[in-house]
Amino acid sequence: MGPSEVDYYAFTIMLLRWFGMLFAGYVILILMLRISNYYRIKRCPNCSGELKRAQRTGSDRFVTLTTLGIIPLKRYRCYTCYWEGRALEIKNTRGRSKDEEKD
Ligand SMILES: [Zn+2]
Repeated sequence: MGPSEVDYYAFTIMLLRWFGMLFAGYVILILMLRISNYYRIKRCPNCSGELKRAQRTGSDRFVTLTTLGIIPLKRYRCYTCYWEGRALEIKNTRGRSKDEEKD
């Protein structure tokens, strides 16, 4: 191995490590977002009207892909003020109460 040769092996390992650390940080960030329930909404953020599921668009699938499916964002639409956006699954407070919402 001459002095002008680049140690590609060490370079690759370094790159992989750097990428792995970045990826781990990214996953932790998504997990924290998921746990914090930041995206969980129950009613329309605009007028607190009732929300209904709307058809997913291509950008929704892209978001699901970029969050590695950790944050199951769904598209909702408000039929009172026509607000539309992505949010985590809305907790169904009325009616059934199975494992969640124990008293
Ligand atoms: Zn609304």
